[in-house]
Amino acid sequence: MNFNKCCRCGCFFVSENAVCPNCEQKDQLEINRLKNYIEENVNGTNFYNIDNVISCTGITPNNLNRFLAQDQFSDFASQIGNGNLN
Ligand SMILES: [Zn+2]
Repeated sequence: MNFNKCCRCGCFFVSENAVCPNCEQKDQLEINRLKNYIEENVNGTNFYNIDNVISCTGITPNNLNRFLAQDQFSDFASQIGNGNLN
């Protein structure tokens, strides 16, 4: 068993996940928000603008970076640039 440090709150927990059980729900909410953004803004001029994604979804750059590394967002992530969120 390995202890992981939660990417969101910094607490330690035993799991293979990036976030602790308390934060999983927050992650899921933000992932849904990101999916909605993608659905609703796909034809928008600022669709692939990272600052626009952040201001529309309220997701922090760190968390956004983590979500975009997931397979389900790989197309979107590849369009948005070079993973340069900072
Ligand atoms: Zn946490």
